[in-house]
Amino acid sequence: MTWVPVPDGSDFPVTNLPFGVFRGPNGRRIGVAIGAHILDLAGVVERGLLDEPTQALRTTTLNDFMASGRPQWTRVRERVSRLLTDESCRGNVEPLLVRQDAVRMCLPFAVADYVDFYSSKDHATNVGQIFRPDAPALLPNWTHLPVGYHGRAGTVVVSGTDIVRPCGQRKAPADEAPTYGPSRRLDIEAEVGFVVGVPTQLGDRVSTVDFADHVFGVVLVNDWSARDIQAWEYVPLGPFLGKSFATSVSPWVVPLEALAGARVAGPVQDPAPLAYLVDDDPWALDLAMEVDWNGTVVSRPPFASMYWTPGQQLAHLTGNGASLRTGDLYASGTVSGPEREQRGSFLELSWGGTEPVTLDGGVTRTFLEDGDTVTLRATAPGLDGTRIGFGALTGKVTAARPPIAS
Ligand code: MN
Repeated sequence: MTWVPVPDGSDFPVTNLPFGVFRGPNGRRIGVAIGAHILDLAGVVERGLLDEPTQALRTTTLNDFMASGRPQWTRVRERVSRLLTDESCRGNVEPLLVRQDAVRMCLPFAVADYVDFYSSKDHATNVGQIFRPDAPALLPNWTHLPVGYHGRAGTVVVSGTDIVRPCGQRKAPADEAPTYGPSRRLDIEAEVGFVVGVPTQLGDRVSTVDFADHVFGVVLVNDWSARDIQAWEYVPLGPFLGKSFATSVSPWVVPLEALAGARVAGPVQDPAPLAYLVDDDPWALDLAMEVDWNGTVVSRPPFASMYWTPGQQLAHLTGNGASLRTGDLYASGTVSGPEREQRGSFLELSWGGTEPVTLDGGVTRTFLEDGDTVTLRATAPGLDGTRIGFGALTGKVTAARPPIAS
């Protein structure tokens, strides 16, 4: 279909065409992934190969393009698809391909606000049992609203960025007093993130029906979490420093249109949600995720098992009239399925550190050690029977910084 050679099993057949930002010989540029290559979209604009000049594609983040709205997203996607499939375009376009392994990927968009939900029932149930063994696992609000919190947008980093082990206050239940120092329970959360393109005005609400008018595309998210810091600090106001030190995202934003073939029926919800959360045409997605710990796949979380849909999350997030900004990122919450090998965090996989996970070679782990690398991947049914992917989201843990001299 495309004249670009696409390796077998590539995440990026021509039915995907995710957007990203790369740093190559000509500086920071917007591009689209195709096979093992990137099409330099700034170059496409400069050569006059789009039907209309799209200056938003000559900037260094996706934000201006994401703000331009769905009709424009569709036009550019169709045109890029034609450039990569029509043999007569090859002579003009081929010089604009750069190899992915020859460039460095950048954070694809300037993150405006960042929200993290908690929308997997299996995850919420597991964490409830581990953190509050003497209380009901699910709190009463959980089946009525998509529980979430506002995170720290400024510490969202792109795949490949090292994660410095955070320090903070830790106090295990048996400890008499808290101490300050490096987290001993550093963990991951395998999540899916939704990137907002079209903003709203203060006071506006977004209906579930209008989800696809506002959300540009989808990324993978690793919500790094320091469980010891989190467990001590989170009552009563929720996650804070146990989460805010870093959140990683994949470098490629997969457009919603590329995921049309991955849509599945939404979850059965009981009790029925309030009217503002009804989602009759949900963007529940059949993404097959994979958690790789130092080269061993330890879990395969199924995104289709999520209880709240991304449309419901967006409707809830704006249900009070909070405005959206271009570049807002909201993540699904840890994706965990009902089986042990489907859990999206090491807290759950090791059941609070009591059941070590065995990696290839017989090494065991409960939480992350310095030097460990975690890679998240996901694939989905693409259009025309293809399989598409998100590219790898990777991060390596480095040692905590030494104490500050006083
Ligand atoms: Mn999370």
